[in-house]
Amino acid sequence: MTFKNYFKNYPNEKGYFGEFGGSFIPPVLEEEMKRINEAYYSISKSHEFISELRSIRKHFQGRPTPVYYCNRLSEKYGGRIYLKREDLNHSGAHKLNHCMGEALLAKYMGKKKLIAETGAGQHGVALATAAAYFGLECEIHMGEVDIAKEHPNVMRMKILGATVVPVTHGLKTLKEAVDSAFQAYLQDPINTIYCIGSVVGPHPFPMMVREFQRVVGIEARDQFEEMTGELPDNIVACVGGGSNAMGIFSAFLDEKNIKLHGVEPAGKGIDKEGKHAATLSLGSPGVIHGFKCYLLQDKAGEPAPVYSVASGLDYPGVGPEHSMLKDLKRAEYHHINDQECIDAFFELSRLEGIIPALESSHAIAYAIKLAKANPKQSILVNLSGRGDKDLDYVIDTYGLPEDRKA
Ligand SMILES: *Cc1c(COP(=O)(O)O)cnc(C)c1O
Repeated sequence: MTFKNYFKNYPNEKGYFGEFGGSFIPPVLEEEMKRINEAYYSISKSHEFISELRSIRKHFQGRPTPVYYCNRLSEKYGGRIYLKREDLNHSGAHKLNHCMGEALLAKYMGKKKLIAETGAGQHGVALATAAAYFGLECEIHMGEVDIAKEHPNVMRMKILGATVVPVTHGLKTLKEAVDSAFQAYLQDPINTIYCIGSVVGPHPFPMMVREFQRVVGIEARDQFEEMTGELPDNIVACVGGGSNAMGIFSAFLDEKNIKLHGVEPAGKGIDKEGKHAATLSLGSPGVIHGFKCYLLQDKAGEPAPVYSVASGLDYPGVGPEHSMLKDLKRAEYHHINDQECIDAFFELSRLEGIIPALESSHAIAYAIKLAKANPKQSILVNLSGRGDKDLDYVIDTYGLPEDRKA
């Protein structure tokens, strides 16, 4: 297939990327998704919207984020490794890119309140940041188990003015939080908008979130070309739902010679059910949260339990666009386990002075493998976020490398 006019044709008007995506939702929601889709097309193409978003990115988020050449990492492992520094985006990760876009759309639509669920709290914090900026109400649903685990993020959301709604039924984690947030949304879809945290969910969300993340790829391509006079040989990004990966992949899809690598979490091992979240490596087509994608399923066809040391990556589904890119063989998907992730976390910290998020550490770990195998090639990694949120967990669970060896 050709990638000319790709963004016009994918998704199609029904929200499909090949056989994936679409909209599997109750009729009440269908109406609302249609309204959001229409609003997106009319509002987000307006001069006013575009110039406001551009100004926000520059003055509030601190964009463009730099592209950085990893001198010592490349020297040690070979290859030429570059980072797109989304860890320097305001609030410390790429997530604010689509949250500011979604919240700006909400403002233009006359919405008063943003609703979402959060697992580890990263999406909740990014959305609470956007809500504070626009003076919108913000309601974040979060399982009681996660609230206990993720205290600093719960505090951040509250400081930013969001209401955190504890979810007390079932396993009291992400899945129940999604149900709870949907229920709250259904009670007042006129005044509220549901803000999805990745390139997942029913149409138009996978498309909208991709469009708001494309800024990462557009900037990175220009910056890389300006620095080196050429385009990179490889692009690497971690994949949970897939938003940071789509953000950077999107700028290189039409360059057949540039390899796109998505990196999933192998957790404690891909041979153990419930101990990984390697969806594209091991899943099969199924439906979750209103859309069709590759899905890790149990024997009954229900979403399987998943796990990763990086809580932003432990989702049993994946964006429909990644599902299509895998089948088209335009992108390759690999997996990195917890230990490899932790090793890369320390390696980047000590060789470059950059502490990466555990999610992003999966991409670094794969880039190191790629560099060793292809010492003549260049590798551009989307460093999706900073690791400050992970420090306590890493030290409590793994300790410092020198203490481990002792
Ligand atoms: C949430 C998160 C991810 C995973 O989300 P994607 O939609 O797959 O990009 C990756 N990195 C960081 C730092 C995150 O917070």
